[in-house]
Parts: sequence; C-alpha cells; structure tokens
Amino acid sequence: MPATIIDGNAVAAALRDEVAAQVASLDRPPGLATLLVGDDPASQIYVRNKRRRCVEAGIADLHRHLPADVTQAQVAATISELNDDPAVTGILLQLPLPAHLRAHDLLALIDPDKDVDGLTEASAGRLALGTPGLRPCTPAGVIRLLDHAGVELAGRHAVVVGRSNLVGKPMARLLLERDATVTVCHRHTADLAAITRTADVVVAAAGVPRLLGRDAVGPGAAVIDVGIHRTPHGLCGDVDTAAVAEVAGFVTPVPGGVGPMTIAMLLWNTLVAARVTSVRAQTGTTH
Ligand code: NAD
Repeated sequence: MPATIIDGNAVAAALRDEVAAQVASLDRPPGLATLLVGDDPASQIYVRNKRRRCVEAGIADLHRHLPADVTQAQVAATISELNDDPAVTGILLQLPLPAHLRAHDLLALIDPDKDVDGLTEASAGRLALGTPGLRPCTPAGVIRLLDHAGVELAGRHAVVVGRSNLVGKPMARLLLERDATVTVCHRHTADLAAITRTADVVVAAAGVPRLLGRDAVGPGAAVIDVGIHRTPHGLCGDVDTAAVAEVAGFVTPVPGGVGPMTIAMLLWNTLVAARVTSVRAQTGTTH
C-alpha cells in the first residue's frame, strides 16, 4: 500500500492559527527582531517570509537591517540593544553573515531566552541536558509532523542522516528526548542504506538530492525529508519520494513537508519566548 503523505502545509497552517489565537490572548504582543546583515538575495527572501508570517500571527515585526560592511562590534552592539529591549521577545540573526563577521561569536551574544532559532550554545546546551529551552525550529517541526501523523517514537529505532548543528544533532537529541533509540549517520557512514533500512523513523538531512531510494527504507517506516534542492525539474529533497512511498508508511513531500513547519515553529518559539520574558519581567530575574 502506498505511504500516507504527511501534509506539512496543513500542519503548519494549523500551528500558525494556534499561535495567532494564543498571541491574541496576551496582554502585549510578542516582538520578533529579525536581524539581517547585508544583501544576500536568498536571506532577504527568507527574512521577508518570516516577517510576513509574524505579522499575520499578530507578532510585532521589529526587523533590523544592517549594511554588508558593518563591523563585528556594531552587530554586537545591536544584539545587546535587542537583548535589553523589553518589546523584543525574540531575536533571529539570519545566517549566513558576510565573511568578515564571526557568526559563532555573535550568536553567543543572544539572550538564550530570546533565542527563537534555538541555535546558540546556551540553547544547544539546554537541549543536550534536557532542560527547558528554545529548540531549533526545523527539527522541532519534524517532531510535530511525526506527532501529527501519530508515529510512535518511544522505543522505536530512529535514524537521522546528517549531523549538522542546525538539523542533524538537535534532531537526534529531540528524538532521544522522546525515548527513541537513535542512530546518527553522516558522510563517513559505511553502507547507509543498510542502516536506514532497519529504522522505524528516518529523518533525511544530508543535503544530497534523492540520497535515499526505495532500497534505503523498510516497510512501514516513517520518512521525513528535510532536504531541499532546486533542480532543473523543480524542487526535490534528500529522498526519492515516489520510490520510497511504495514501501514506507509515511513520507513528507518536498515542497510542502518540513519547509513550512520551520517558519511555523519560529512563530511558536516566539510565543514561548514571550511567555518566558514576561515571567522574567514579573519576577525580576535576569540572565
Ligand atoms: P549540512 O551540509 O550542514 O550537513 C549535512 C550533513 O549530512 C553532514 O553532517 C554530512 O556529514 C551529512 N552527509 C552528507 N552527505 C552524506 C551522505 N552521502 N551520506 C550520509 N550523510 C551525509 O546541511 P544542513 O544544514 O544540516 O541541511 C541539510 C539539508 O536540509 C539541506 O538540503 C538543507 O537545504 C535542508 N534544510 C532544510 C530546512 C527546511 O526548513 N526545510 C532547514 C534547514 C536545512
């Protein structure tokens, strides 16, 4: 029987509606500061989409744009200003930055309670230790999709293909947090397909077009495709979706799978961060 296609557009739309409803019930709206440095065309599109979705959800758009030749100190000062601004409840530093800037050092300056991308060392540490914190949007969105599809995670074998700080590593930790037995594969893994074939859940985040074919998936597995590639024939992911759908239980399409969840989770994180900073303001706690 062909796999069930998990509709990421629908799950993301429902999550955005939920965020909008909860934002409407707050005394003051959350505020997201997207910080864009320079004029990278792809980054401009990503940031524009994030800002549009924020406004639709009732989140204040507190965007900042700095010129490409800005200094490290100037970006650092802007982040510090945003950290101190009570109207700003979430900060997102859009990557990549111009080559002369040290992204790692700048990310480290973001107040962890405002780190809506969940990518700072502090957020990664919280995730690694299993303490409350803001989780990276893409892997958190994958968990939402699996939950929506009713895929059991506890005690199941989950294989994550990719070990980046952005997707693979936090994905593995989130699956561990949900009591899955997790295997992480990467570019040095020998016989990838032999490993992914044994999985109940496969998350493909290798950045290689159609890396996983029919032979790489076991019967009934849930296959989540994080990859996104522009080809002359349109967009595709890390999974050969049509072939894999013949054996898998669930697959996500590209486009319309994980992609829309990433922005929806950003809105969710902005809502969560606003709640945390509001409690902090009431109790006078600081970081
Ligand atoms: P990355 O290049 O930083 O990491 C890729 C990882 O895959 C590495 O750990 C590498 O070891 C592993 N890998 C590469 N080739 C492999 C192979 N042949 N076999 C096994 N492992 C292999 O990429 P990333 O930032 O983690 O992104 C991965 C993919 O997900 C990209 O296509 C990216 O565009 C996409 N992405 C999508 C979203 C979204 O919202 N849909 C968000 C982030 C990333």
